[in-house]
Amino acid sequence: MAAGPGQLYICGTPIGNLEDITLRALRVLREVSLIAAEDTRHTRKLLAHFGISTPVVSLHEHNEAQRTPQILERLMKGESVALVSDAGMPLIQDPGQGLVRAAAAAGIPITVIPGPTALVAALAGSGLPTDRFAFEGFLPREARRRRAHLEALKDDPRTLVFYEAPHRLQAALADMLAVLGDRPACIARELTKVHEEWQRDSLSGLVRQWAGRTPQGEFVIVVAGASPHEDEPAAVTDDAVILERLRAHIRAGADKKAAVRAVAAELRLPRRTVYQAALALPGEGAAPGADAAPGSGTPEN
Ligand code: SAM
Repeated sequence: MAAGPGQLYICGTPIGNLEDITLRALRVLREVSLIAAEDTRHTRKLLAHFGISTPVVSLHEHNEAQRTPQILERLMKGESVALVSDAGMPLIQDPGQGLVRAAAAAGIPITVIPGPTALVAALAGSGLPTDRFAFEGFLPREARRRRAHLEALKDDPRTLVFYEAPHRLQAALADMLAVLGDRPACIARELTKVHEEWQRDSLSGLVRQWAGRTPQGEFVIVVAGASPHEDEPAAVTDDAVILERLRAHIRAGADKKAAVRAVAAELRLPRRTVYQAALALPGEGAAPGADAAPGSGTPEN
């Protein structure tokens, strides 16, 4: 009698702390014929830690198209395969979608072994509403597209959850503040690891906290949804935030006049307000040639 198809397991693994692996995940990883892993070296370290010697093949965004039929063939022959990623749940900003879709289309039984995922851990600890949320993954890298993406979210009443790379954290926070307005937010850094850190603050407070600090590690940003009473994002009036944004533009090569103009547009403030804040910058009393003189006071945005 011909053997039926095998089983595909989508297997969650820890997002840092190895104690977060489940007993079921360990059993499945031990019992399957093959483990399909995002990075075989990374997964072999996890397996070695738990004394598991199951064969591992790579399955990542660059080889998914050619690897999927090979794995599917083994599943059709009756072998069982576990899909894992480097951290957390596979398919959550990680590879595996193609294999799962192909297995489902081929009638292969699919079982999920749930494990930790950074977005749920961050949301749960954020202190922000959890009844409705939108997971946005990574924002676009390019500033213009990132802002456009945020613009499309600014009226969404659901709590927003983002993943972000350390070198883009400050730019992402500044854009969130500029586009979404000053809302309650939370940064969850290095979850489940030795240097786990939680910052529950307004977006302007987070911009301030990260000014001059080099972000390191892994980050989830959770941001409150749009308030139903808010037509426009709240104006940012905190001098420290204005100064931080002015310094960022000047560091990026803008002169003070251009920096004042850019920050006024970014934070939706009258140029005069930004000009006043710029007086505190070292070296000179005012942004040279700032075209909204103190006292003119007409909001320009
Ligand atoms: N599949 C993973 C999951 O289930 O969360 C996510 C993989 S995605 C490629 C990696 C991103 O997830 C990181 O850049 C970070 O934004 C977030 N992340 C993963 N582990 C984290 C941790 N321990 N603490 C905070 N964020 C984490």
